[in-house]
Amino acid sequence: MRKDDSPLFKKLLDISDKILGTEHTHDAAVHKLSNWSYGGRFCNSAAYDFFRPRGTKLIWASSVWNTFVTPKRVFILWLATKSKLLTKDRLHYLQIDHNCCFCERMEETACHLFFNCPFTKSVWHIICAWVGIRRLMSTLPSALKWIKKESKGKSWHNKLKRIAFSSTVYHVWMARNRNIFYNLIPQIDSIFGYGSLDCFVGLYHFLFVLLEMLSVV
Ligand SMILES: [Zn+2]
Repeated sequence: MRKDDSPLFKKLLDISDKILGTEHTHDAAVHKLSNWSYGGRFCNSAAYDFFRPRGTKLIWASSVWNTFVTPKRVFILWLATKSKLLTKDRLHYLQIDHNCCFCERMEETACHLFFNCPFTKSVWHIICAWVGIRRLMSTLPSALKWIKKESKGKSWHNKLKRIAFSSTVYHVWMARNRNIFYNLIPQIDSIFGYGSLDCFVGLYHFLFVLLEMLSVV
C-alpha cells in the first residue's frame, strides 16, 4: 500500500487482509466471497455478519437466563453479574453511610454484600444445604462459573440449584433495599423462605412443562 493510494483503495486492501486473515488461504477467501452473493446479487447481510464485531461468549449467560426464574430475579442477577447494581461503594459522591447494612462493619461492595458478609454467608449456608450445593461461593463470577458447571443438564435438581442461586441473589438485594429504604430489619429466615418459595414455584412450572410434554395434562 502506498501513501498516496486513495482511501477507498486502502479500505479495500484492509477488507482483503481481514478476509485472508480469517480464511487463511486465497482459495478459501474466494469461496467465502462467493458465499456472499445469491443469484448474482451481493448479499449485504451475509457480509455484515462476517465483519460485525462479536462479543465474548459469557459463561454465565445460560445460568442467568433461567427458564424457570421470574424476569425480575433474572434482571437483578444480570445487573449483578454486569456490576451494575448501585451498591454503596459506587455512590461515593453521596453523603451516606457506606457500610453494609447487614453487618454494619465493612464497606458495601457487591462482593461483600452477596458473599463475604457474615449475614449473607449464613443465608447461603442454609440455602446451599437445602438444595444440596456443597461448595462455598466467594465472588459472583466464580459462583456463576461454578453454577454453570454444576448445573449442567436438565434434571429437576440441577434446575433447583439454578433457581436457588438466582433467587438468593435477588432476595438478598431486596432485603438490603428494604432495610435502607424502609428500615426493615433483614431476617435470614425470611430470605430463605422467599428463596424456597421460588424453588417450589420453579419446580411446579418444571413439572407442569414436563407433564405437558408427556401429554398427561
Ligand atoms: Zn456486611
